[in-house]
Amino acid sequence: MGEQPVRDWLADYDAGAITIATAASHSSLQIFHGAKKLGFKTLALARGDRDLRYYDAFPEAKPDEIWRFDDWSELLDRADDLRARNAIIIPHGSLIEYMGTQAFEQVQVPVYGNRRVLQWESDRDMERDWLEAAGVTMPRLVTRPEDIDEPVIVKYHGAKGGKGFFVAKTPGEYHRQIQKGEPHTIQEFVMGTRYYLHYFHSRLDDDGFQVYKKGAHGADAPRADLTEASLGQHKIPKTAAHGADAPRADLTEASLGQLQMLSIDRRDESNIDELNRIGSVNELKAAGIDPTFVVTGNIPMVIRESLLPEVFRMGEGVVRESYSRFGGLWGPFCLETIVTPDLEFKVFEISARIVAGTNPFIGGSPYSEMIGPGLSTGVRIAQEIQKAAKTGQLHVICT
Ligand code: AMP
Repeated sequence: MGEQPVRDWLADYDAGAITIATAASHSSLQIFHGAKKLGFKTLALARGDRDLRYYDAFPEAKPDEIWRFDDWSELLDRADDLRARNAIIIPHGSLIEYMGTQAFEQVQVPVYGNRRVLQWESDRDMERDWLEAAGVTMPRLVTRPEDIDEPVIVKYHGAKGGKGFFVAKTPGEYHRQIQKGEPHTIQEFVMGTRYYLHYFHSRLDDDGFQVYKKGAHGADAPRADLTEASLGQHKIPKTAAHGADAPRADLTEASLGQLQMLSIDRRDESNIDELNRIGSVNELKAAGIDPTFVVTGNIPMVIRESLLPEVFRMGEGVVRESYSRFGGLWGPFCLETIVTPDLEFKVFEISARIVAGTNPFIGGSPYSEMIGPGLSTGVRIAQEIQKAAKTGQLHVICT
């Protein structure tokens, strides 16, 4: 999708009558709840005759309208109707899974966030290149099954919610469980505790924690004057911010915008997270029961405060490197991490949009409470769209 069609569509939009649209699943309650709080119209997209009466149980999140399709490909044909409603689509994992990445990339309706990120997160090599350049440590890859000499996790490509993943400690265990012919990755099974970090990067806001361009700040070239005076990329420089009267070009160039960490969860996965209730892993293996990693829910978490500098260093690196690679990752995103007993983070996955792990925080989280009362990721998305609509910057946050 080129930049121009999106600009043209948005030029025809009534910025005072935007409809927030997303697929009826995943985090749609949260997205609609946030949108309604800020006065947006809301539209749920659903396939077939799925039972959506659960929306009736949550009036503050119930979408104003529901559109049903026989097939998700019909969404592509309804683009004109969606644009006539000034719709902005909020992507989430289920929407992309239902539509398929290619169809999603082609949908002729403004999408919140950068569609180009899809390619970078769905290709494991590109993802690794990006995250390692960001200064993030990832689990070691094992390229040949014969080399398995410590616990590894085997992940099928495109498998959703951990389905089919398995653990092996020897080549024999691998061969016993592998589904032949299925493309997969073998990586180190990282021992430690899992934290799924929910970030939000704003290209519009110039207060709070700023993401600096490479060389402007941080590890590459720390400059006290820049740390004092960050200014959003799309902003007229605020002279008061650095105490000088004249705008300084180097400062306006230096900041890519704000980074927030809104909440943290841990996924509840069946059956691995409750296996210890009926015996040791070895006993279970002997009985023919293997651990599985199917996500069934989410648990709110907080992390040791001393780990927060690293949380922000990783988030900043990931955002910074996204700009040089594909024009930026903005809006909500999540780093899926494991903290080892040495207090080191290993990141095994990135989700470049809202994750369902933010759902425990529809009323706010211990972290978002320190930003604003009741701030969920859904509300934060709505705030960003509202600000962009009011300041004529929708084209900056939609692709
Ligand atoms: P993913 O689909 O990559 O998010 O992985 C699904 C689940 O498998 C995660 O939520 C973790 O519980 C587990 N997992 C994934 N990668 C690793 C790893 N390298 N080490 C340990 N557990 C992992």
